[in-house]
Amino acid sequence: MIAAIKRVCIHYQKLLHLRTVSKMASGSEAVLAPLRQAVKEQGAVVRKLKEGGGPKSEVTAAVAQLKACKKALENKEKSLSPPTKSLFDKAGLEDLMKRRFFVAPSFSIYGGVAGLYDYGPLGCTMKNNLLSLWKAHFVEEEDMLQVECSTLTPEAVLKASGHAERFSDLMVKDLITGEFFRADHLLEEHLEKLSSKAAPDKIKEYQEVIRKVDGYNKEQLGAKLTEYSVTAPLTNNPISAPVELNLMFGTSIGPSGQLASFLRPETAQGIFVNFKRLLEFNYGRLPFAAAQIGKAFRNEISPRSGILRVREFEMAEIEHFVNPEKRNKFPKFDKVADLRLTLYSATDQIEGNSPKALRLGDAVEQGLVANETLGYYMGRIHEFLLRAGINVEHLRFRQHMSTEMAHYAKDCWDAECKTSYGWVECVGCADRSCYDLEKHAAATKVDLCAKEQLPEPRLVEVVEALPDKGAIGKKFRKDAKALLEWLAGQEREAMQKLESQLSMGAATVTVGGNEFTLEPAMIKFKTYQKEVHTVDVVPSVIEPSFGVGRILYCVLEHNLNVREGDSQRVWLSLPPAIAPIACSVLPLSGNTQFQPYIDTIVKELKVARVSIKVDDSSGSIGRRYARTDEVGVAYGVTVDFDTLTSSSVTLRERNSMRQVRVKMGDLCSVVRGLVDGDMTWEQVEGKYPLFTGQESTN
Ligand code: AMP
Repeated sequence: MIAAIKRVCIHYQKLLHLRTVSKMASGSEAVLAPLRQAVKEQGAVVRKLKEGGGPKSEVTAAVAQLKACKKALENKEKSLSPPTKSLFDKAGLEDLMKRRFFVAPSFSIYGGVAGLYDYGPLGCTMKNNLLSLWKAHFVEEEDMLQVECSTLTPEAVLKASGHAERFSDLMVKDLITGEFFRADHLLEEHLEKLSSKAAPDKIKEYQEVIRKVDGYNKEQLGAKLTEYSVTAPLTNNPISAPVELNLMFGTSIGPSGQLASFLRPETAQGIFVNFKRLLEFNYGRLPFAAAQIGKAFRNEISPRSGILRVREFEMAEIEHFVNPEKRNKFPKFDKVADLRLTLYSATDQIEGNSPKALRLGDAVEQGLVANETLGYYMGRIHEFLLRAGINVEHLRFRQHMSTEMAHYAKDCWDAECKTSYGWVECVGCADRSCYDLEKHAAATKVDLCAKEQLPEPRLVEVVEALPDKGAIGKKFRKDAKALLEWLAGQEREAMQKLESQLSMGAATVTVGGNEFTLEPAMIKFKTYQKEVHTVDVVPSVIEPSFGVGRILYCVLEHNLNVREGDSQRVWLSLPPAIAPIACSVLPLSGNTQFQPYIDTIVKELKVARVSIKVDDSSGSIGRRYARTDEVGVAYGVTVDFDTLTSSSVTLRERNSMRQVRVKMGDLCSVVRGLVDGDMTWEQVEGKYPLFTGQESTN
């Protein structure tokens, strides 16, 4: 019986450990569920023992275990509803970001430029940490091929991809001041304002329009702006009808500027144009994924949401190339199938229903998510965002409505985070089908297919043209070569058609813009059966596309807190691996005897690749801790007078503000373990004595 009790408790401890270490909790209930289950099971054990008149010693032990299970549940419940409340404090966070130089407006001493921001020391390290996590989570774990391509992109590439023609937003103009606004945003803001003082039926109507606004075309949006008498914000001036603005920054390459080009609006095209090389690198096999981190540029119409909508930003994109017929089977899909995601389907948006929490496996099975490959990436995005510090309660996946989808997309889900600005798209996850490769292949005449091995060789009918090269050369002279190449590259259907046309007399074909009139005697045709072992496949592309700055901002908002009872003491509960600095090192005072210890700790932590900052400024230890808490430093090491005699230091955890006493020899491995998530703070407290000797909070 005692063994059974132990098994239950070991079982829940393992579950608890796994959950904490993996840091992928999908909501507090998911974390609490195994603990609740353990209490329930242990309660049943106690009841059974009591009812069966079991030995007193066993009953006592079982009751003690039940209490331990209840305590574990209680503690976890407490830790999940921290003593401090998360804020959605836009002004507070933006002040903190500027004051501590996470991010600040670019060129501000010249008055600044809307939509341009510089990252300071803390913003840079936090962004680097986010990107390291991204590389580990996607590039390394999924064996992706990373590339870094040119940002300057010739016009021809973006013409083929459709961006030159269609990568635009609708804008309206204040007819008096000439200022421009994004038309859909203006309509949304206007209807939100009206909603705040409207009757319930009107609110319903306005909210429906807001839900559908992303899907309106130019005419529909113009009609709604007129219907609701929308005017320019602040001035109330009349506005123009919506017009399209292409969001790409145009430029030209070369001293004479003869090569028209653009700053890339996304990193994806760099991967598509390198498809052949990447395929070769992957031994010619599908599927594979390529990844790229880099800057993208969009001339946003009126960027007014801090770093959420900027004109130059870092993207991290993945292009997963897969045989379109095999999209619905992803070998590792099982790994994410049980994740519960909050899904806001296009239908639910249109019908005004709320988003639903659904098991990913079920969403794919029901056909709500188009295929397993898209579903797998949605699951991995969900896990990544939680690891980065996004609050699962404020995360959802919203499906694009058919009218809203980008020109290349077949199905698309945005991972959106709730912030003080409303729901913000942080990651787009689109099934781009074969669109891009087909367009680039058509524009360049380069074959962008993969050859897939057939399970069994297949017999196919071939119609081969046998041209009379002499006659063709004589008639078409310098253009003959292009015609001969064209004839050699045609599919069976085209050759059959030409053969039938020539059987009735002369036939004309167009090659590279030139017309060639062919006589029947110029070409003979040979039809035969050929055994083939491969088939040409234009891969489909599943594309998760991450806006790094947006994720960084949402992580900051979701982790902004104030200490209970002190609204001035702001702190960031950032995951240690994301925090701009993992550990601070503080001498208790300016006493010179502390310096050799500080030097040793710094050296060893650096060797262990823990990011650190020494704070030897004056001020009480509590004030210095408060300053590091404000920027999310996860741990603090203090060298004090006991260090001089016992070679031990205090190690403080930011969220609980609790401290333990750790031997200097153990310090690096403990801090490294905490930062990597290989060890929990609870485990550290279980191993090292709690330290309460010195005030850590003021
Ligand atoms: P898209 O190609 O439009 O789906 O954008 C991909 C991702 O880039 C989005 O999910 C955003 O996170 C990010 N993004 C797009 N536009 C901007 C912008 N103007 N400023 C910052 N991030 C952006």
